[in-house]
Amino acid sequence: MNKVIIIGSGPAGLTAAIYAARANMSPLVFEGIQPGGQLTITTDVENYPGFPGGILGPELMDKFREQAQEFGATTLFENVDRVDFSSKPFKVHVSDKEYEAESIIISTGASAKLLGLESETKLMGFGVSACATCDGFFFKEKEILVVGGGDSAMEEATFLTKFASTVTIVHRREEFRASKIMQERAKNNPKISTMWNSEIVEMYGDPKEKGLESVDIKNVVSGDVSNHATDGVFMAIGHNPNSDIFKGQLILNDSGYIITKADSTSTSVDGVFAAGDIQDFTYKQAVTAAGTGCMAAIEAERYLESD
Ligand code: NAP
Repeated sequence: MNKVIIIGSGPAGLTAAIYAARANMSPLVFEGIQPGGQLTITTDVENYPGFPGGILGPELMDKFREQAQEFGATTLFENVDRVDFSSKPFKVHVSDKEYEAESIIISTGASAKLLGLESETKLMGFGVSACATCDGFFFKEKEILVVGGGDSAMEEATFLTKFASTVTIVHRREEFRASKIMQERAKNNPKISTMWNSEIVEMYGDPKEKGLESVDIKNVVSGDVSNHATDGVFMAIGHNPNSDIFKGQLILNDSGYIITKADSTSTSVDGVFAAGDIQDFTYKQAVTAAGTGCMAAIEAERYLESD
């Protein structure tokens, strides 16, 4: 019987592990299919407090893990397939093994939607990014593309004009899905232009050399494909919360994010807490994830004391 099982190992899960371990709760962390979470697919992280000069994303997450282990957290490179929160103790299934816990912290995060090109994966962190707040600063006076037509694409394009010399929104249709006000803001920005009916079909560059150098863009109406030199591509086509295994167990919103109570990480099941991007579709930052991870561990501790 475990006092607490933590599912997911990004900044939220590993911060929860540090706090839970220091509170003598001996947390067991299932790291999942992307140990360390989304930061492990970025390069420099310059906005995590405490690291002037920046730190590499994977290195930062290694430090989180090391710190959690230092206080007695057990971290396993395993993926949870199924959970049962219908009765206590809660059950967590990993392959053919069943684990039991008095409380659960979920921090499985969200994954940025990508186009699915091999070259996109290869160049992620080397000119291709899925987070303008994280990486915009590296594109001072550069010419960049933003893919998408929703509020995220408008917001990221507008934000990126603080750094980039030009921002071109590449959208697959002839109209945006974004709210009017966000569209207007982007449209009125002289640095932003739009390529309608357009899709990126290939990316070129060497991660070991200059990174991304150009992309092929297909006009979906004419079928024509043309090559465009660019310094960066920001994907803004949405996120998928990693919540499939919690469907039917917890209350999720329409987009699949776990609903937590106001000013708390409590979910619809007493004793189950959620932290980080799995319950945050607004800020999506490592430092906010870490903050809610800390909250979840404190709330789990209080729950166990009162139970
Ligand atoms: P979204 O509203 O789902 O928009 C995704 C956009 O990406 C759509 O324009 C879609 O094109 C395009 N897209 C999806 N898959 C694609 C693909 N494979 N290739 C090319 N394009 C693709 O996602 P979001 O913009 O991230 O917003 C998510 C939610 O957060 C929304 O409810 C939004 O209002 C909210 N949000 C609000 C704010 C704000 O108010 N400040 C900021 C950001 C997000 P189609 O239009 O053709 O489907």
